[in-house]
Amino acid sequence: MEQTLKILVVDDDEVDRMVVRRALLKAGVQMELSEVSDGNTALSTLRNNTYDCVFLDYRLPDQDGLTLIQILRSWDIKVPLVVLTAQGDEQIAVELMKAGATDYLSKSKISSETLSQVLRNAIRVYRAETQADVAYQQLRESHEQLVRKNQELERQRQQIHSQNLKLLEASRLKSQFLATMSHELRTPMNAIIGFSQILLRPKFGQLTNQQTDMVERILNNGKHLLMLLNEVLDFSKLQEGGLELQPEVFDLTKVIHTTVTEMRSLAEAKKLSLLVQIDLQNSLIFNDPVRVKQILVNLLSNAIKFTESGSIWIEAQDLPGNRVAIAVRDTGIGISSKDFQNIFEAFRQVDQSITRKYPGTGLGLAIINSLVQMMSGKIFLESQLEVGSKFKIELPRQISLSSSSLASSPLQLDHKGVYCSNQNPHQSSTAQSSKASMGYPHLKL
Ligand code: ADP
Repeated sequence: MEQTLKILVVDDDEVDRMVVRRALLKAGVQMELSEVSDGNTALSTLRNNTYDCVFLDYRLPDQDGLTLIQILRSWDIKVPLVVLTAQGDEQIAVELMKAGATDYLSKSKISSETLSQVLRNAIRVYRAETQADVAYQQLRESHEQLVRKNQELERQRQQIHSQNLKLLEASRLKSQFLATMSHELRTPMNAIIGFSQILLRPKFGQLTNQQTDMVERILNNGKHLLMLLNEVLDFSKLQEGGLELQPEVFDLTKVIHTTVTEMRSLAEAKKLSLLVQIDLQNSLIFNDPVRVKQILVNLLSNAIKFTESGSIWIEAQDLPGNRVAIAVRDTGIGISSKDFQNIFEAFRQVDQSITRKYPGTGLGLAIINSLVQMMSGKIFLESQLEVGSKFKIELPRQISLSSSSLASSPLQLDHKGVYCSNQNPHQSSTAQSSKASMGYPHLKL
């Protein structure tokens, strides 16, 4: 051993101490050796100094080695400790080891070799034990830390859970409030519409031109308000899962034509051409005609609202896999791709300011999205600012009755930048293959 070791020999027998000293010197151990002859002095010496190894005689005049070791341990003094036993003390040695002695050696076997070997072993064992102690301590600390973190996480989880419950309750109350309010407002609104219609009938009596103009405005505004109220009512029903589809077999071409006829005056008022292109081998589908028409009305009224000049197309075609596609395309203001996902959320509009140019509740697309999901369909959006937009709905030709409850899966962006609901690899390829027919050659996808 190269470094100088601090060694303490505790033995009341001067000769025995000398034997140890000589053996160590002979073994060439570089050391600073201290010697004490009783237990109490040994204890106070060990309390005030550190040693690399202690050779302890088991039989001391004031106390035995076992007691001394126990006192050292109770003081938390750690040191490699070799007990020197007399002949026949082997059984005691076992006890000493259990109490914390590092090793023992019978005095009769002391030689330079045995002593230096016991010394080396004791120091090595002591170091290994110290390292193990440190590692164990670290493990315990990190375990305690983990337990604390787990407790904190659990506390946060419970907090989030109770906040979620509160949010759900608040959202439920909000939907209930919206449903009640819009329902209550619809009754007087229907009366306003009904009575304005009666006032406009010639048999009711002749109105002046100014009066007719005013009543027509009351009627149109009333209809508009009713439409907004219906949107809010539908949305709150969808939120609460209280809206069910009423599927039946109907002619999709007919529904498209009826809707277009109803919307044509709106388009004409803005000098927009409204074109229909239906390419269906079989026009019959099994779905809820009222809700399909609602989707078409919403898409067409958006297309008309957000288009200042140009055209609007409504297209329908068969798709493989017994599905149909309906698309509404316009040459309007377009939508930036950063807004693609937002606009499908309730109350979200590209322009959220109160001074915005285009009126609306911001519920139309959220309703469409929920309805399309209930129909197990998908929505695709492609758009470019100042070029135009295309909303395409893909629906199964026959919806399943079990799917007619609301499934809320978010919209996703596919790898082509086309937004669609319920994304799957098949959809991306559909979106891609339909790209050529979109009429936006410079559409960036
Ligand atoms: P609303 O039309 O009542 O504002 P919607 O949910 O129908 O609500 O549409 C949300 C938003 O999406 C609109 O405010 C508009 O910013 C954008 N948007 C929808 N359709 C079009 C379209 N055809 N062209 C341009 N922007 C559109």
